[in-house]
Parts: sequence; structure tokens; C-alpha cells
Amino acid sequence: MAGPRVLELGEGRLLVDLDFRDTEGLVAAFLLPEPEGWALVETGPTSCREALCRGVAAAGVSAEEVRDILVTHIHLDHAGGLGAVAEAFPNARLHAHELGVGHLADPSRLVASARRVWGEAADRLWGPVVPAPPARLRALRGGEVLPLRGGELRVLATPGHAKHHLSFFDTGLRAVLAGDSAGVLLEGSNRVRPAVPPPDLDLDQLFGSLEAMRRTEPRLVLLSHFGPTPNGAEDLRTYRTAVERWRDVALAAARERADAGYVAARLAEADAAEPGDRPSLVSGYDLAAQGLLRYFQTHGELAGASS
Ligand SMILES: [Zn+2]
Repeated sequence: MAGPRVLELGEGRLLVDLDFRDTEGLVAAFLLPEPEGWALVETGPTSCREALCRGVAAAGVSAEEVRDILVTHIHLDHAGGLGAVAEAFPNARLHAHELGVGHLADPSRLVASARRVWGEAADRLWGPVVPAPPARLRALRGGEVLPLRGGELRVLATPGHAKHHLSFFDTGLRAVLAGDSAGVLLEGSNRVRPAVPPPDLDLDQLFGSLEAMRRTEPRLVLLSHFGPTPNGAEDLRTYRTAVERWRDVALAAARERADAGYVAARLAEADAAEPGDRPSLVSGYDLAAQGLLRYFQTHGELAGASS
């Protein structure tokens, strides 16, 4: 079996391809060197645990050297594997947003909400969600700093995609690790896919978070789906435009019919999906339609419209 890809990002920073759904280039984790040991950003879901462990080993990093594991947010494709991975990296502190740590220690609500959205497919896609050991969890809220070799990692609160979303600015690489807060842009594509799922999407916060990331003046933007974007900070601006376009298409559709299936079909149509539609493997039209519809409903955008 071929090992997962490990890509060099510069300054000793590495990307590990987690081979989600046995497919390259969908879900990434990142290894950042600390003065002693390593930080891992994102674990992926439990179903990617083997690929992650093999990738870390292939990078020449021993399990004991991983001292910090940080997740951008608690959606299962980013952090579902945290509890399972914690066993494999016994010395690591586990960091997540303060609004998320409770759900990682007791994932019952996370699992229930994933099953509500994804149905039967949830368990197959993500595998079992193991509770993360509470004594090892650390709550972040933005503003914290972790030392890195050749720089530091600054924690940024970047709500919008989810209220518990964090991004990380690596001053050594001048890279912002954006999780899902700057969208989905797969290798070989030049079209960024809005990542706008339920339940707590907030577009004003999302745009504010793009601005907060832009203020770090990054040279690189690193997406969890997937890797460095082609134009760095400029892609943060491009992403705002892409989200605004989807918002407008979805709002017009929702005012005709406040139905997620209908809104999803209008988004897919306006998007003229690429052959194979790979971005939908991590961020589908259905989920986006549900996220936007719920946002419009809770922000009074559909007042007076028929449903
Ligand atoms: Zn997410």
C-alpha cells in the first residue's frame, strides 16, 4: 500500500494528505515544527487515523514528538478523529475553540447532528467518534500564541463557517491555516467552493473573519480542503466574492421556494459543476443550501416570502 503523500510547504512545515474516502487531495493535516517536538493541525475523521499515523511516520516524526494537536473547528472531517488520534499521540495537548471542547469530550451531540444531516452515510464516512480525554483538552478563543521553530503560531478567532472556528497564522511561513473559513479549493481547480454548512453559518462573521486573516498579510493561505491556494492573500478576496454570489443565488431561490432541495439545485445550476464534481465530496450543494437557508431564516431575510 502506498503511503499518504507528504508535501513540503517550506521552513520545515509539512502537509499530510489524509486520503479521505480513499481519494487524494480532499482532507489535509499540517505538521509544524516546535522548538522541541511538533504541532499537528487537524486530525481529520477517525476513518483517516491510519493514513494520518502513516503520514506522520513518513514525515520522520515519531508519535511521542507530537506535543500539540490543534483543530480549526469541530466538524467531523476536521476533528472527528481527535479522540482516536489522542491515543496514538500520547504526549499531545489537544487544542480547540472554547465553544467546541465540551463536544469533543462528549461527542454525542456532534454525532447526532452529523447523523441528522448525513443519515446512514455518517458512520461510514467518519468512523466512530471517540471522546477526547478531558484532562488533555485546552480551550482557545483567539489571541493565544504557541512557539514554533523559526516563528510562532498565532491563534485567530474566525467564526462564520461555524461559531467555533479558529485559524492559525504561522509567522515563520507567513501562512494562515484557514481550515474551512476560506472555502474549498481542490488541487488543479481554479474555482473556490463556498463552505457554508448548517447549523451556525453566519455570513457577516465569515466576511469579518476573512478581513481578520487578510490583516495578517499572509504569503500563503492553507486550506484543509486542500493545501496552499494559488494566489495567497488575494484568494481571501476572491472567496468573499464567491460567497456573495452563492448568497445571492440562494436568496433569490429561497424567496421563490424556501426548500433546501430547490435551493441546492439552483446553486448547482449556477455553478455549472465541474465533471466529477470533486468539491462535493467535502462540501456539497445540499449542505450549502441547508446552511444558507437556515441563515436567511434566522436573519429575517425571508420575511413575507412563501415557503
Ligand atoms: Zn467545517
